Amino acid sequence: MTTLFKNVRVLDSTGAPPFEAQVLIEGNRIAAVARGKGALATLDAKIIDGGGATLMSGLCDAHTHFSWIDQPSLDAIGMLPVEEHVLESARSAKRYLDCGYTMCVGAAAAKPRLDVVIRNYINSGKLPGPRYLANGPEIATIGGLGDLNPSHVAAYTFVEIVNGPLEMRRVVRRLLKEGVDQIKLNLSGENITSVPAECTPMAEDEIAEAISEVRRRSGVRVCAHARSAKSVKLCVKYGIEIIYHASFADEEAIDMLAAARDKHFVAPGVAWLYQTCHGAERWGVTAEVARGMGYFRELETCIATVKKMKARGIRILPGGDYGFAWTPHGTYAKDLQYFVELFGFTPMETILAATALGGEIMGRPHELGKVREGYLADLILVDGDPLSDIKMLQDADRILAIMKDGAFHRQPAA
Ligand SMILES: [Zn+2]
Repeated sequence: MTTLFKNVRVLDSTGAPPFEAQVLIEGNRIAAVARGKGALATLDAKIIDGGGATLMSGLCDAHTHFSWIDQPSLDAIGMLPVEEHVLESARSAKRYLDCGYTMCVGAAAAKPRLDVVIRNYINSGKLPGPRYLANGPEIATIGGLGDLNPSHVAAYTFVEIVNGPLEMRRVVRRLLKEGVDQIKLNLSGENITSVPAECTPMAEDEIAEAISEVRRRSGVRVCAHARSAKSVKLCVKYGIEIIYHASFADEEAIDMLAAARDKHFVAPGVAWLYQTCHGAERWGVTAEVARGMGYFRELETCIATVKKMKARGIRILPGGDYGFAWTPHGTYAKDLQYFVELFGFTPMETILAATALGGEIMGRPHELGKVREGYLADLILVDGDPLSDIKMLQDADRILAIMKDGAFHRQPAA
């Protein structure tokens, strides 16, 4: 199958300004990117006239929860039966692709096999969805983030609760056996769960045990919920590649991260902070309530921290913890607007963070995240120039075509 995009402006994610070009897709890869008009001969190709639209890499969400279901509480995903949960997760996967996201990094599943099953079905072509790195449930300690159980009830929660290195080893091995791509550790707390963001309940021997289990497998990585300064330092010390949030990283933590910037990715998940402060009244989280929980202070600190990290060349990616009532699925590209408006990224820097860095965090920088010869054909055709208005990527109707692995998920209208 050969497809030729003509009359498009290519935003190639190398940092170069968009240019007029033709792009030839053969099989699942980009066979040629030829500047100018009429540069490529087109014998058997299906021809797509882009009408001057922007052709760019599909987007990446670095903090994805397919199994979060737009509810205001974490109880909802803990108690949802597995049958409904599989279907809900499949819907989320399709939703991401519908919105132009072709790369997603799982930041925890609500049940042990949910992410793995959805990933496998996507990979086998049975289910529409982005390329996906599957996670297991987040791992927390007794009394840590996600341990919602009252002590007298043996209820199910959405996390794996461990106590000590041996229990950690058992849980990590069980998840590795199921085939996760990542293990998630809840190193710090989270204010809304009444475990403060700035505390770090997980002990070092527990972290070390998880790391040693993972390091014996190839291709598996560790990510962490790490809001406190101490938790960010632990991520660097133990080589935890993907650091979620990092709001309270202090100067020492930022120095450590900067020195190891080639090893780590930071995804601040700012949509969660911003929307908890400014978009959750309907669910009883008024500005006053959010302020009382410390979210205004954390949002302010997060913005200052991200600006410092950006200045130090640390890799920062969009991915905002979508799937809560006030960060619903389908609004993923709001993160790009926050990168521009809150963090001071230029639109170009934001696009690079959402595409080229996406290829890096997916572990495939030489074939994902750019529009270049030889790269996999994961492309979106955007009606307009996202560099002139980053918000247009929030409007799924302006994404005229979506191609993943050389096949159209959304065909352009004739
Ligand atoms: Zn999350």
